[in-house]
Amino acid sequence: MAEFPSTARVVIIGGGAVGVSSLYHLAKAGWTDCVLLEKNELTSGSTWHAAGNVPTFSASWSVMNMQRYSTELYRGLAEAVSYPMNYHVTGSLRLAHTAERMREFERVRSMGRHQGMAIELAGPNEIRSRYPFLETHDLKGALYDPSDGDIDPAQLTQALAKGARDMGAAIVRFCPVTGARRDKGEWVISTPKGDIRAEYVVNAAGYRAAEVGRLFGRAIPMMVMSHQYILFEEIPELKDWSEKAGHKLPLLRDVDTSWYLRQEKHGMNLGPYEKNCRAHWATPDDPMPEDFSFQLFPDDLERLEWYLNDAAERVPILGTAGVSKVINGPIPYAPDGNPLIGPMPGVPNAFEACVFTFGIAQAGGAGKVLAEWVTQGRTEWDMWSCDPRRFTAFASAPDYAIAKGMEVYGHEYAIHFPRHTWPAARDRKLSPIHDRIKALGAQFGVYNGWERANWYAQPGDDVSEQSTQTFRRDGPWQKRIREECLAVRDAAGILDLPGFSRFRVQGAGAREWLSKLITGAVPKPGRIGLGYFADEDGRIVTEMSIMALDEDFFFLITAAAAEWHDFELLSKNLPEGSEISLKNMTEDFACQILTGPNSRKILAEVTDADLTKPWLAHQSVQIAGKWCQLVRVSFAGELGWEIHTHVGDTATIFDAVWAAGQKHGLKPFGMFALDSLRLEKGYRAWKQDLSTDYTILQGGLERFVKWDKPDFVGKRALLSEKQRGAGKRFVTLVVEAGECDAPYMSTIWKRGEIAGETLSGGFGHRVDKSLALGMVRSDLAEPGTELEVEIFGERFKAIVQPEQAVWDPANERLRG
Ligand SMILES: Cc1cc2nc3c(=O)[nH]c(=O)nc-3n(C[C@H](O)[C@H](O)[C@H](O)COP(=O)(O)OP(=O)(O)OC[C@H]3O[C@@H](n4cnc5c(N)ncnc54)[C@H](O)[C@@H]3O)c2cc1C
Repeated sequence: MAEFPSTARVVIIGGGAVGVSSLYHLAKAGWTDCVLLEKNELTSGSTWHAAGNVPTFSASWSVMNMQRYSTELYRGLAEAVSYPMNYHVTGSLRLAHTAERMREFERVRSMGRHQGMAIELAGPNEIRSRYPFLETHDLKGALYDPSDGDIDPAQLTQALAKGARDMGAAIVRFCPVTGARRDKGEWVISTPKGDIRAEYVVNAAGYRAAEVGRLFGRAIPMMVMSHQYILFEEIPELKDWSEKAGHKLPLLRDVDTSWYLRQEKHGMNLGPYEKNCRAHWATPDDPMPEDFSFQLFPDDLERLEWYLNDAAERVPILGTAGVSKVINGPIPYAPDGNPLIGPMPGVPNAFEACVFTFGIAQAGGAGKVLAEWVTQGRTEWDMWSCDPRRFTAFASAPDYAIAKGMEVYGHEYAIHFPRHTWPAARDRKLSPIHDRIKALGAQFGVYNGWERANWYAQPGDDVSEQSTQTFRRDGPWQKRIREECLAVRDAAGILDLPGFSRFRVQGAGAREWLSKLITGAVPKPGRIGLGYFADEDGRIVTEMSIMALDEDFFFLITAAAAEWHDFELLSKNLPEGSEISLKNMTEDFACQILTGPNSRKILAEVTDADLTKPWLAHQSVQIAGKWCQLVRVSFAGELGWEIHTHVGDTATIFDAVWAAGQKHGLKPFGMFALDSLRLEKGYRAWKQDLSTDYTILQGGLERFVKWDKPDFVGKRALLSEKQRGAGKRFVTLVVEAGECDAPYMSTIWKRGEIAGETLSGGFGHRVDKSLALGMVRSDLAEPGTELEVEIFGERFKAIVQPEQAVWDPANERLRG
């Protein structure tokens, strides 16, 4: 064996499909001085026993991107690296039992088309022609994905390994990583074969990722499920059909009853995601063994019985076949079922590419994304859906990760409806007035673990989970959301907003430092303003509200979900040895939004603050004897204030404002109403309207760019884009929608050609119209342009609006 390498630019820990793909893509990017360390043999974790299904289907734009890339890579890989392998592109059918499922399929077909894929929908006759053995009488239809198929996971891994080695990267097998430490700005990675010094390190340890994470002081939010598939003996009818047809059956997924069925030679492979599922290595009496390489759990067919029967009813030839083998292996889950790909939170020069539940289908795309993170610090596609920083500390609590992992596994194929919130592991972070707003009827949603009111139900309203299983706008919430929006328009509303992320930035040079990080101007003391952070390509990384308390003293306030992402962005950019201190104060402060034309009258009863101070001013005041910072802003677009307080004073201040507000028509309102209100103002939501998929200029944010500043991150790229002219533009559309508003990433059309995509959609109750925020080709962004928005397969007329907001375009109410 070659000598054990003592240095490497990047060390990857783990030689499953994902780790090896990461090595391959790093080498492809020219980073060949990389070493992969594998505890046992390549593929010995989850990869060797995976069924190897390679779907492109996903309701998430970014995950679809990643999976589409995988299929494109796998098609050419054998030839590219001279390593023959079995990759069968069989196509797949997903069955729909309900109209809502067909809507999900329509949306995915449309996203697929936008990404250049030819996904189709099929009626019962076409389903039967593609799959003659299927019982179709109760089906609404199906989705046919021609690029779906299956690959041999071990061969895939070996092919990627060969490609990586051929380019000069190294793989060391039977070499477990046992320690990691920082020394002189580098990593020292320990193994029984010796230490390696590395600039960067990647945790690709699959279901052992938590164990490897601990070597870096990182608690990974994950758990391990047991997942099974059953192989059946040869079925003579299938053999005859297949030989005549000259190909295999398409892969079949009955997503409404939660199983897949694949032709395996002339037999079948059935894989259910069962509701009565089982976590492994989740309790102290069931510890993860030190080595589980190439091992399986004992068969547990009892758990799958219902699914076996259901599949045999759907495909009766299955009922005649004997079981030949059961595979029951470990499969890791993050709390939302997506993998972790990107920077390891809080740990310098360390990355994660782990916790994959679909690691064979995603390995190709994940390798590309990981390599971009390491080599460039940013990725081609916005990959927030898989970013490790989307979870914060609370998500690593084992009981949380286990409950959520089991929930996701048991609903692996479930439809994600816009008004539904998943019930497992709730009430992790509560506002001090949680019980008060609950008593007012709050129906809660989860925002970075914080429970916030989504809407307020009245006695008799249907608040069942069942009622949320729809894409339709209408539902028990709709009337209440409207009432809440109109209360904000006509009187006043109050919204308790726990968990607003908040960072204190203080010390000599803080203003100048912030000015280099954001595209625009840093507000003067006493003022608050939006700061946009771009990357070197001028793309939108984040948006924070900057509250200037003094020349060099700020509070930066940002979305709950952005807490770790934004804190890391700031801390990474803090110059070494600077006098600027940065502190995450999220848990110390609370915020309540008071907004509506009567909000001034209400505040006047509880404070002697100067309520004539203009929009975007803030001041320290007392309410009911407690300190608070009154900030004159309103995301709802009405006269209003944010009341920032110490957490411990939330209840006192809420009670005082609530009592004073009663005679002024004060009503509580929730996040659903806020979303509708902000759409009418064209205010962007982070990672929906604001993402690295678009530049600051495309995002229509030029008014937040101060071109005459000497320098700021992204300036060069933005200047050159300005000279060229941005190819896309952010627009607000009024949509003549039907019973559903436009979901994220609906295709926008102009005369039969794709013109762009929507980012947010919803109903504006003050303007009584369905609205969408989106991106369109610049030549189609002229106000008045008539376009079409495709909503669940139907196209609806949409008109581009002038650049001002559709509600209160001159901001008169806001400034009032
Ligand atoms: C029954 C079953 C069927 C499945 N079917 C499919 C499917 O059809 N399609 C699909 O996409 N996915 C499927 N999966 C999921 C898939 O197997 C995984 O998502 C994928 O294999 C994960 O790959 P990985 O590289 O992330 O992890 P792994 O393959 O687990 O690789 C991690 C590697 O890290 C190594 N390692 C761990 N600790 C250390 C250490 N300290 N030092 C060095 N090395 C270490 C391990 O030995 C291991 O080889 C299935 C899973 C199961 C259980």
